[in-house]
Amino acid sequence: MIHPPVVKPGEPPAGVARLAGVLRADGVGCAVIDANLEGLYFRLGHLRVGDDTWSRRAQRHLDDHLTVLRSADIGRQADRYRRAVADLGHLLDSEGRVSDVRAGLADYRDARWSPLRSRDLRRAARNPERNPYFAYYEAQLLPRVADLQPAVVGISINFLSQALCAFALIGLLRRRLGAARIVIGGGLVTSWLRGGRVPSGVDEWVEQMVEGPGEAHLLQSMGHGDRMLRECGRRLPDYNDLAAQPYLSPGFILPFSAGDGCWWRRCAFCPERAEQRPFRPLPHSLAVGQLRHLTAVTRPVLIHLLDNALSPALLKALAAHPPGAPWYGFARIGHPLDDPEACRRLAAAGCVMLKLGLESGDQGVLDRLQKGVALPTAVRVLDNLRRAGIATYVYLLFGTPAEDEAAALRTLDFVAAHATAISFLNLAIFNLPLASPDAADLTVSDFYPGDLAFYGDFVHPRGWDRAKVRRFLDRRFKRHPAVQPILRRDPPIFTSNHAPFFAAASG
Ligand code: SF4
Repeated sequence: MIHPPVVKPGEPPAGVARLAGVLRADGVGCAVIDANLEGLYFRLGHLRVGDDTWSRRAQRHLDDHLTVLRSADIGRQADRYRRAVADLGHLLDSEGRVSDVRAGLADYRDARWSPLRSRDLRRAARNPERNPYFAYYEAQLLPRVADLQPAVVGISINFLSQALCAFALIGLLRRRLGAARIVIGGGLVTSWLRGGRVPSGVDEWVEQMVEGPGEAHLLQSMGHGDRMLRECGRRLPDYNDLAAQPYLSPGFILPFSAGDGCWWRRCAFCPERAEQRPFRPLPHSLAVGQLRHLTAVTRPVLIHLLDNALSPALLKALAAHPPGAPWYGFARIGHPLDDPEACRRLAAAGCVMLKLGLESGDQGVLDRLQKGVALPTAVRVLDNLRRAGIATYVYLLFGTPAEDEAAALRTLDFVAAHATAISFLNLAIFNLPLASPDAADLTVSDFYPGDLAFYGDFVHPRGWDRAKVRRFLDRRFKRHPAVQPILRRDPPIFTSNHAPFFAAASG
C-alpha cells in the first residue's frame, strides 16, 4: 500500500495504517510505503540547485533546516522554523522550474495538466517521466515494490495534490509490474465515486476504485469472508512500517480516527449532510482503549484525532481515560465545552488544542447555514478553553450564500472582541460544492473546469462575490490590529498540524 506525494510530510498517513492493521490481523501479508516522505528526502538529496543567492544559501543550510523542523522545541524557534520551511519550499519548488510543474513541501501545481480532468490523469500515467518524483520512483520505489512481488498494489489518494503523482506512479507500475492488480482508494477517490465523477478511460491502469474505508473491499478481493468484514472497522491501525520514519515534526505524531462520518451532519453545503453519510463511531471504550494502547506502543509526542467532530460522549470518555500523550482534534462549539469544569478536565487529560468550525460571527449567517451554534455559547466556549489553557484553531468561512459584507464585518468585530481566546485562525473563501442540494436555488457556473471538478462558481444572491470577499479579507480583515498577531502565529505550510507545538510554547 502506497501513500503517494504530495502532502504535508509531518505525520504518517492514517488510511494505509488502518488497512495494514486489518489485513495483518487476518493473516494477509502487506507492506506500507510512505512514498510522500521517501520521495521528499530523495528529491532533497538529488537537488539541482539554482545559481541564485537564496538557492545556494538554502542548500547550504539544508541539514540545519531539517534538524530544526524535527527538534523538540520548534515552538520556541519560530523564526528559524519559518526560514526552514521557506527555504525547503524554495529548493523543492525551484527544482521544477525547468518544466511546467512545481512540487513544493505540500503542494503540486502543473501549468498544463489538471487533477480535475480524467484526460490529464491519463496523460500523467502515460508520461511519468515528466513528474518531479520520477527519479525517486525509478531508483527507489519501483525496485522495492518489485522485490515484494505484490498480488495487489493499493494506492491511497486523499488530496488533489496527490492525484497527478499517483497516476504517474500507476503508469510506471503498470509498465514494470504488469501482473499486479492496481487498486486505488482514499478520500479523493471516495469523493469522486460518491459524487458520480468517476475518472474515465483509466481501466488500462487501474483494476478497481474503492469507495469509503478500503479494508472490506481488499479483504473481499482476497477471498476473505463477511464475518471478517463486519469486524474490520474495529481493528487496530498498524504503524509498524511508519513509526520510525523521519517525518518533519518534533517526534512521532499519531493520527487516530475514532469513527467515520459526523455525528452532527446538519450543516448546509457539507458533504456529510448532502450524501447522508452514516456516522459510524467506534464504541467509546474501544476507541479510548485503542488510543491508549497505540500511545503506549508508539510513544507519540502528539496525537492527532482525525474525526470530523469529536462527539460530546467521546470528549467525556477522553477526559475520563486520558490517552497518555498531548492530543488535539475538531470539536463542535457547544456541550460539553460550554462547561468550564469540563474544559479543565479535558486539559488535564492532555487536550492541548481544539479546532472549532465557527465559520461566522454573525448569528443570521450561522442560522442560515444550520450550524447549530449560538454566538453567546461560542463566547463562553472560547473563554472556557482559554482559561483551561487549551489553544483554539478557529475556522472562518467567507462568501457563503448566507453572508453579505455587513455580516462579514460582524465576523471581524467578533474576532477582534475575542482575539485573546483565539490562538490561530483559518480563513477560507466559500467554494460551492456542485453536488450539494443546498445549491439548488443558486445560479451555478463552471469554476474549476474539468469532468472531476467538485466545485462551481455561483451568482451570489446578495452580490457578495469572490472578488469582493477577497478584497475584504486582504484589505480589511487581515490588516486589523487584533487579527494580524493571530495570523502571524500560524506555522506556515504545516498550519494546524504543527500549531499545538507553537501553542504550547506561547502558553
Ligand atoms: S460539523 Fe463539520 S463535518 Fe459535521 S456537518 Fe457540520 S461542517 Fe459537516
